This record gives sequence, structure tokens and C-alpha cells, in this order.
Amino acid sequence: MNPQLEKEIVKLPSDQDISGRTFGAEELAAVTEVLQSGVLITTKGKYGKLLEKEFAEKLGVKYAYACNSGSAAVHVAIAAINPNPGDEIITTSITDMGALTPIIFQGAIPVFADVDPKTLNVTAEAIEKVLSEKTKAIIVTHLFGNPCEMEAIMKLADERGIPVIEDTAQSFLATCDGKYAGTIGKIGAFSFQQGKQMTTGEGGIVVTNDDALARRMYLFINKAWGYGDANPDHYFASLNYRMTELQAAVAYAQLKKLDHSVAQRQKMAGLLDEKLKDIEGIESYKPAQGSTMTYWKFCLRVDDQLIEDGAVGLAKALKTYDVASAPRYVVKPAYKCQVFQEQNTFGDSHYPFNLARPEAVDYDDANFQGTLKGLHDVLVLPINECYEEHHIYFLADSIREAVEATKIK
Ligand SMILES: *Cc1c(COP(=O)(O)O)cnc(C)c1O
Repeated sequence: MNPQLEKEIVKLPSDQDISGRTFGAEELAAVTEVLQSGVLITTKGKYGKLLEKEFAEKLGVKYAYACNSGSAAVHVAIAAINPNPGDEIITTSITDMGALTPIIFQGAIPVFADVDPKTLNVTAEAIEKVLSEKTKAIIVTHLFGNPCEMEAIMKLADERGIPVIEDTAQSFLATCDGKYAGTIGKIGAFSFQQGKQMTTGEGGIVVTNDDALARRMYLFINKAWGYGDANPDHYFASLNYRMTELQAAVAYAQLKKLDHSVAQRQKMAGLLDEKLKDIEGIESYKPAQGSTMTYWKFCLRVDDQLIEDGAVGLAKALKTYDVASAPRYVVKPAYKCQVFQEQNTFGDSHYPFNLARPEAVDYDDANFQGTLKGLHDVLVLPINECYEEHHIYFLADSIREAVEATKIK
């Protein structure tokens, strides 16, 4: 392989450094202001509050509370729902570990639903299969900037009075039927980690319209201390999940750029989509009818009947062009990770899995055919708000040539 390259390699912007991020004078000024004020704690400073106010306004929700990671955001959401030990929380086989371990820390059992092999998103159909009397909540993960099919999921959940948490870490400003992802279920959880559509390095935020949940979310971030109450106390077991003013200042500046960042991702993804659409053997991920995608990544399904070694083969060929792509997205589905396989939790107790129904922890691959197929087929390509047309032309050409080189004759 290794075709003689006739063109120059174009270095693609990376979200792991400044080449693919939008930090500039605005972030610098806000951080400088915070440092000069000497107030680095959000309970006293202005940026934490400003960020929460403007994030809530942007999404059109009543409440937003900043916290210090996306994992913390998911933990806050689960703690607000307040499961009893052994209650079940349905989640997905393909998500970040930070969306799963908080379930265990709140004493609930993560029950994995299969996903749609075409998008790797969890579906109503798969959720329905694992529902039980003990289901306390459903967490959906909108992967890669592509919303899950929420209408069917909300119908299923609403009929049974089960709250839905939306993990929107990868899908800022994506929409379903005109509503922002993260505002459709009871609680939305977002991450500001380095590689997300807006970032503070580490950080997160939770949103809701529900007064009672909002109160518990706020308290869980703040050691459950009743700030401002007549007789404040530490009301229940919780943590300090607060973000600092330094992070909040960066997040505040980043929020002002979010519309632009998302629009640029959509524009560039649209262009790439157009350039790839007639190439046999690959197909790009598409949003469902009525949804819009905000392209955390740009995903392809690779047909291993047409391309040698499928997604793995194509990724290898793309390396020739210095294009870093990720076949499989994650090494393995969540249920195959050691933490679940060995139930490594608290001492040697296996708690809370010692309370689980056997069906709830049935990790047989036969239950996850969509997951295994989806992972086998997917090739995750990088994209971010710093991509410009010449990057897309180079990427599209590289993919076209890599497909040509790996085509099964
Ligand atoms: C990034 C991410 C998280 C965790 O966020 P952190 O800020 O890294 O803790 C959770 N869920 C999904 C889907 C993510 O992509």
C-alpha cells in the first residue's frame, strides 16, 4: 500500500491543542479579571452565576448549575433522582465511563440497553427490552452530536412515569423536533472537557425545568449545604462538585462562541458529507428525521464486504495521510469493562451488584448485537470548529484515495 502521495499533507486542527480550539482574548480577559479580583470560588464570584444564567437562557430552561466535570454532571443528575439501593437505571452499552460509574456510587444498578448499529445511539426498542419493575430512571447518551430518537423514548418513559436523563456531553445545541438535546427529558448533563464543543479543560453543567430536582441538583454540588436558608444544615450525603471561577470565566467566554462553533462544525460536516456521498463502501452517520446534528465527531460506517479489513483497514490507510481516525470508537462496549465484569466496587462487597436481578447483569453478547455490529463498522473522524474548507478538501481526498487503496478487488 503506501501510495506515492502527489499532494502535500495538510495538518488538521486538533481539539487537543490550540489549533482546534477557540481560546482567545475573551477567555484571557475573563481569567485575568478573576485572578486580579482574588475571588476564585464560585460561591462568591460572578462568573459561575453568569455562566449558569446564560447557559439556562441559551437552552431555554429554568435552571442550570455548573459543576467540575461531565461525570460530576451525570452524578448530580442521578443523585437528584435519588434511587434506592438496588434500583435499576437503564443506560447504554456505548458511552463514556464517566456516565456509568456515578450510577454505582449512588447504589443503583446500571442496566445496559443495546444500540442502533447505524448510529450507536440507544433506542426506545432496546430500552423497552430491559425495563423492569425496578427501573428508576433512563439515561440516554446523544453520541457524536447526534440526538437519540427522543419522541419514542419519551413516550415509553412518560407512559411509565420514569424520568429520563440526557447525557448531552457530545451534543451541545443539537435539536430534536426543534428542542435542544438536554432539555427534552427531566435533566440534561453536559461536559466541558477538553474535546467537547465548548470547553474549560474539565467542567460540566446540568439543566432542568423541574423545581424539586433543581433544588437537589444544586445541593448535591454544594455538600448539600442549604446556603441562604433560615436554618442551613448539611441535608444529605453529597460532595463538593463546584467549578472554580477560573473555569467559569473560560466557560462563559466559550458559551459566547458556541453558536459559531456549532455552525462551523455543521457547515464543514455538510461539505465533507457532500464530497463523500458517492463513494462506495462508506456511509456517513445521519441525524434522524426532525433532528439536527452538531458533529462532535464525523462518523462513517465502513462496509467490510467492499473495503479490506473494514474500518480498521481504512483507518490504517488514512494514517498514510496523517489523518488520525478511530475505528471502533471505544476499545470495547461498557459491559465488557473490568469494573462490570468483576463488579469491582466497594471493598470485596460487589455492592450494589449483590442486589441485582440476574437479568439486570446479563452481559451475554447475544443481547448486544447492535452494539457489536455498530462498533465493528464505525470509523470516527476528527472535526472541530477550526476546520476550514481546505481541511475538508484534503480530508475528503484522503478518504477517497484510502478507500481506493483498500477496495476489495
Ligand atoms: C465526555 C463525556 C462524559 C464525561 O465527561 P467528563 O467531563 O470527561 O467527566 C460523559 N458522557 C459522555 C457521552 C462524554 O462524551
